[in-house]
Amino acid sequence: MTSAENTVKKPHALELDQAQLTTLLKSWGEPGYRAVQVLKWIWTEKQMDPAAMSNLPAGLRAKLAEGIDWFLPEVHSSLAAGDGSTKLLLKTATGQFMEAVILRYENRTSLCVSSQVGCKLACSFCQTGKLGFFRHLAAHEILAQYVMASNMVRGEGRRISHVVFMGMGEPLDNYQNVVTTVRAMLRPEEEFGFGLSNRHVTVSTSGIAPKIVELAKDVKCALALSLHAARDDLRTELMPVNRRWPLADLKAALADWQQMTGGKITLEYILIKDKNCGPREAKELVKFIHGLRAKVNLIPFNAHPGLPFERPGDGEIRAFQKHLAERSIPAPVRYSKGLEVSAACGQLAAKQIENLSAIPSRKSVIGADAR
Ligand code: SF4
Repeated sequence: MTSAENTVKKPHALELDQAQLTTLLKSWGEPGYRAVQVLKWIWTEKQMDPAAMSNLPAGLRAKLAEGIDWFLPEVHSSLAAGDGSTKLLLKTATGQFMEAVILRYENRTSLCVSSQVGCKLACSFCQTGKLGFFRHLAAHEILAQYVMASNMVRGEGRRISHVVFMGMGEPLDNYQNVVTTVRAMLRPEEEFGFGLSNRHVTVSTSGIAPKIVELAKDVKCALALSLHAARDDLRTELMPVNRRWPLADLKAALADWQQMTGGKITLEYILIKDKNCGPREAKELVKFIHGLRAKVNLIPFNAHPGLPFERPGDGEIRAFQKHLAERSIPAPVRYSKGLEVSAACGQLAAKQIENLSAIPSRKSVIGADAR
C-alpha cells in the first residue's frame, strides 16, 4: 500500500490506541482481544506488515492489510559516515523528503528525528531554514522514523535508546503531533509505546516561548534550546524567531519550564567565527544563564557551501569555553557527528530538494505564524 490516495482515509497503525483498534476489529466481526496481539506486533516487534503477524488468522491479516494504513516511508538514501552515524533520507507518502540520523556511541544509540518538511523559522546558519516550509509531519511519520531506525540497528544488537528532535523543522511549531509522538515514545512497551526514559527524549526548540511552558504541562521530557547568541540584536540576526520572542521572554519561559519539571536545560550554542564567540558574547551568555540550571553544548560551526559563516579557530573556541568553565558552567565542545554526510540540521534533505525540479512554492514565513 504505497499511494497516499489509497491510504488517506484509513487510520494509521502507529496512531491507533487499544480502544480504537478494538472498536475497529469488532466492527469487522473480529474478537476484541486480537487488538492486543496486533499492538504487540507493532510496538514491541516494530512489525508493520500484517502478513508477517504469524499468530493471527489469515483472514484477519487480510482485513488488517486492507483496513489500516501501514505505510512506512521509502529509504531514498542511506549514507554512513566513518564516525558511526548514518543519515537516512526518507520519502514520505506525499513524495516529500524528511531525514533522520542514527548516531552510534559506545554504550548508546541515538536517533535525531525531523518534525516538519522544511521550516518556517529561517535561521541564517541553517540549510533547512533556506528551503522554507512545506508541511508538518503527522505523528505516525515521526514515529515511523523510530520504527525504521530501530529495525535497521537491531541486527547490530543495538536499540535506539535516545531520541532528539533536532532534524528538519521546529518541533514546537508542530506542537500537537510532537506531543503525541513524545507520549508514545515514553509509554512503556506493555502499554504499547517505545518505553524510552523521559530523560532520553529531548525536544529541541529555537525558542517558541509560550509553547515551552505548555510543553512542561503536557509531557515530561528533556528540553534543549538553540540559543546561539545571548544579545537580542545578534540573536535576531542569526535567528529571526527572536524578534517575536526575545531573550527576556525566552528566559522567563525557561525558568517556568524548569520550575514545573525540575529538569536541567541544555543550551545549544553554535560557535561562528567573528560572530558570536568573542569575550563580549561569552559574558552575555553567562549573564543569560544566571538563575537557570543549564549546561551548554558548544558546537563549532560546520562550514557549508551557500552559508556565509566559518568555523572559529581552536584558540577562540578554547577561550570561550574557558570563560564559561571558570564560572562553573559545564560547556563541552561537541563536534557534530556525521560531518561528511552533512549531519547539520536539514542539510541532506536540503540538497535533495534543491536537486528536484518540482519544488513546491516556498512559504517564506519568518516566524510569522509560529505559535
Ligand atoms: S535551525 Fe531549526 S528552527 Fe532554525 S531554520 Fe533550521 S530547522 Fe528551523
